[in-house]
Amino acid sequence: MTLHIPFDNSYAALPDGFFARVHPEPVREPSLIALNEPLARELGIDGLDDPNIAALFAGNAVPEGAAPLAQLYAGHQFGQYNPQLGDGRAILLGETIGTDGMRRDIQLKGSGRTPFSRMGDGRAWLGPVLREYVVSEAMHALGVPTTRALAAVRTGEPVIRERPLPGAVLTRVAQSHLRVGTFQVFAARGDTKALQTLFDYAVARHYPDATDPASFLDAVMRRQAALVAHWMSLGFIHGVMNTDNCSISGETIDYGPCAFMDSYHPETVYSSIDRYGRYSYAAQADIIVWNMAQLATALLSLMPNPEASVEPFTAQIHTMPDMIRAEWLRRFGAKIGIADPEPGDASLIADLLTLMQTAEADFTNTFRGLADGTAREQFADASAFDEWSARWSARLDDENDPHGWMTAANPVLIPRNHRIEEMITDAVAGDDSLFHRLMAAYAMPYDAREQFGDLRKPPAPEEVVEATFC
Ligand code: AMP
Ligand code: MG
Ligand code: MG
Repeated sequence: MTLHIPFDNSYAALPDGFFARVHPEPVREPSLIALNEPLARELGIDGLDDPNIAALFAGNAVPEGAAPLAQLYAGHQFGQYNPQLGDGRAILLGETIGTDGMRRDIQLKGSGRTPFSRMGDGRAWLGPVLREYVVSEAMHALGVPTTRALAAVRTGEPVIRERPLPGAVLTRVAQSHLRVGTFQVFAARGDTKALQTLFDYAVARHYPDATDPASFLDAVMRRQAALVAHWMSLGFIHGVMNTDNCSISGETIDYGPCAFMDSYHPETVYSSIDRYGRYSYAAQADIIVWNMAQLATALLSLMPNPEASVEPFTAQIHTMPDMIRAEWLRRFGAKIGIADPEPGDASLIADLLTLMQTAEADFTNTFRGLADGTAREQFADASAFDEWSARWSARLDDENDPHGWMTAANPVLIPRNHRIEEMITDAVAGDDSLFHRLMAAYAMPYDAREQFGDLRKPPAPEEVVEATFC
């Protein structure tokens, strides 16, 4: 059989200035690491037994019906506006409409240089490719909106970083790759015509009910508020919430130096490039509002009288912190067994988090331990926890199924940094067994399965990962 991807491309039909047509650069010796067959089937792909599948997902041959291109966008990187970014190492092959009726992008990442590569080599090394593969698929299994991983291949070529490292290509699937930065690039250039075209495209693709920029902004804000609260409820830290890494569809996108927290502290930062903690765990709830303000600024140009719209748009942005608080309360309420939390429950949750911070309690194991009866072990000062626990028990008297809520909201397994690093080290040495084991474990993160008991453990002191690199 030959691989068949039922492309139905819409982005490639947008005006020329939106992208550059570009072909992936062939690699020396492609070999398949992983192929996500269930996802491929959802996308309507067949011929998965094609003997050339590694070459196809390495970019050595462009599948029939693809219209490969690199997308243009701009973005604020750590608060600094960069007027031109664009896909420097990613190539959109095209879109398919899946068995669920959803249009999705299929993109190669690490497939060579594009007109937007600037100083970059257009390549990715194996470590970040496998991290994105594992973490994005784990996020999906955890229930978080996210881009997916369809395939990973080794290129058989070295990529030069601080030292030569094995190269790889990831095939990524997204509801789209439209970003806040896609709007910013045209707004900053004063190209209102292109901005309007982009707006119409984004509305049709993601928010068909949005009739004007204000309702579109509101819809994006709602999805992003829900997304960031969901991240926080799992201890996830994205690490690079630049506006070019902030998707219009509301999916988690661009997994770089991302990480899940082990012990709880609100100021936790892993990303080696986030020197001032702009994108720390707790800061995510503020930064997403800042990012949405940048989207609002870009959308202003679409208003008949932009000047007069500054005030209403600003007022709209000011509604976002409450949206996030509501989502946060809903998520963390479920984590402590409350189906429909009231504002007063926020302090019960906050008090637990304070105790966890003092005790350096493991985020995942403490919350899961509330359901399993083992949370107390996380606290050296058990009396403070017991006091909290008494208040909590009293509150749960009003609840019908606290255990059900807790087991559904508190995973047993998250991709812990030390495991991810161990997997990367092994894969660089040519051993992918831990990669496959982690994939099997994280596919069912809410199930306690004995064979994966070791993956529940936080890192031993010598295993702690202080920083993540991309
Ligand atoms: P990021 O924040 O990792 O999503 O990347 C920011 C920008 O840098 C994007 O425009 C990427 O396409 C570009 N970029 C990152 N790494 C490379 C690379 N190795 N070669 C070319 N462009 C790159
Ligand atoms: Mg990016
Ligand atoms: Mg990246």
